[in-house]
Amino acid sequence: MSTRPTSPCGLCREVRVLCRSHVIPEFCYSSMYDDNGCAYNADPLYPDSSRKVQSGAWSFILCEDCENEVNEKYEKPFLKHWYKNKVLDLLAGSRGKIIGGLPYPEFKLFHLLNLFRASLSDHPMFDGFELKPAQMDRLRHMLRVVDPAENGDFRLSPPRYKELAARFGTL
Ligand SMILES: [Zn+2]
Repeated sequence: MSTRPTSPCGLCREVRVLCRSHVIPEFCYSSMYDDNGCAYNADPLYPDSSRKVQSGAWSFILCEDCENEVNEKYEKPFLKHWYKNKVLDLLAGSRGKIIGGLPYPEFKLFHLLNLFRASLSDHPMFDGFELKPAQMDRLRHMLRVVDPAENGDFRLSPPRYKELAARFGTL
């Protein structure tokens, strides 16, 4: 087990003992695991490096307080609305549909939280991905005060969800 480092937290910037933060929440991987709780991590460029995994990518990113805060503010609402309420089932058999009833600030900020953590992660999966310091400062503020900003800022692309849902059945 890795020793938990004491470093500035990615969100509150306080020097604290950092937690193992999943870059993308573990529940997002749930449909990929087999009955033994394993999934395969395959890189099409390096097929010989494929291996079984039992956890999604994580890094020491946030302190415990911030980890708990983002879990309550963003991850639990997303889990409830997107997975438990099966929002994508509404798209079955349609070429397009407007999905309503999602809490917009939490929904948008959930995705930006994953982007934020990916930029801070030292996991090899996110090598080469790094937001600019000004973007990180902006996201840090938005995440701390639950501010989704203007629609055009850090725009999400819902058609991408539809495309992925059609390909994989679920996300
Ligand atoms: Zn913190």
